[in-house]
Amino acid sequence: MTAPLIDPFQRAIEYLRVSVTDRCDFRCVYCMAEHMTFLPKKELLSLEELDRLCSKFIDLGVRKLRITGGEPLVRREIMTFFNAMGRHLETGALDELTVTTNGSQLARFADQLYAAGVRRINVSLDTLDEQKFADVTRWGRLPQVLKGIDAAQKAGLRIKINAVALKGFNEEELPRMTEWCAERGMDLTWIEVMPMGDLGNEDRLDQYWSLKDVRRAYESHYTVSDLAERTGGPARYVRLEETQQKIGFITPLSHNFCESCNRVRVTCTGEIYMCLGQEDMADLRAPLRAHPGDDGPLEDAIRAAIALKPKGHDFDYSRQRADGQMSRHMSHTGG
Ligand code: SAM
Ligand code: SF4
Repeated sequence: MTAPLIDPFQRAIEYLRVSVTDRCDFRCVYCMAEHMTFLPKKELLSLEELDRLCSKFIDLGVRKLRITGGEPLVRREIMTFFNAMGRHLETGALDELTVTTNGSQLARFADQLYAAGVRRINVSLDTLDEQKFADVTRWGRLPQVLKGIDAAQKAGLRIKINAVALKGFNEEELPRMTEWCAERGMDLTWIEVMPMGDLGNEDRLDQYWSLKDVRRAYESHYTVSDLAERTGGPARYVRLEETQQKIGFITPLSHNFCESCNRVRVTCTGEIYMCLGQEDMADLRAPLRAHPGDDGPLEDAIRAAIALKPKGHDFDYSRQRADGQMSRHMSHTGG
């Protein structure tokens, strides 16, 4: 038996989020600048390297794998990778293979994702208003995403909608979005906007809609009861008694969830980030590339990185500006 990955604070690392590309067909205002310079292809892990890397993590005890980006479904031949990861579901080594997507390519790929073993997906959608959707995603078009959601449900995929809570933007859409999700049997999670990236942070502070206030908005429409469910991540859940819907709140800024953190992130260039809110990272691409036939050095590098996983992060809007503010974009670490 290989020893599992346990960090210095006795947290077992069982959840890996991997970004497979830095590219995207949208340019969400809180995530990317309109004109982005993307990485040259040789910087990215190849699909074979991604397979080796993820398989090693699974060998070391990772039970849940989430594929993200950029937009993961715009990476060329990405289904080859999903099919390759499907083999770990078949052996029982992996409990869950999942994806976070903007939904634009789902009409094309929903059936193939299901065939690869994916059963649940997260679709990011902040508004049901076509014009607002175009405004917030810059390049995205709502009908295409709605078609993708239809295709995914038809394929048998369970969907959770992730909406970034933005004051004065989707505030008044809360009941409509909630009802829409209820009608379609989809869970809904609100995410607090994070001070990522290097542009427009002032705007983001203005648009900061505390999830405490989102919860209050729910309480004025529904009977809200807390659920004990924890996922080891930043999400907390409530149930709406009237619709029996589960609503999630991801509050990376106003709550400290780090004590139960069971996850690490790997970027599309093979950097491992031990904490979303810290700059500490380690390079896994070098040991992968230097030893094509031997995963020993890769395993050593992974273990060395986990040994450095910090206790917690340092986002804090109350200190305004610079403190704890990250300079990298969400699309780099995949959210
Ligand atoms: N492109 C895919 C998508 O949009 O679902 C996957 C990658 S995206 C970076 C992952 C998640 O991060 C999305 O739900 C997005 O809304 C969220 N996100 C991006 N920038 C954010 C920010 N500044 N604050 C909070 N969430 C953010
Ligand atoms: Fe693309 Fe997702 Fe970032 Fe929007 S949030 S720009 S869809 S990576």
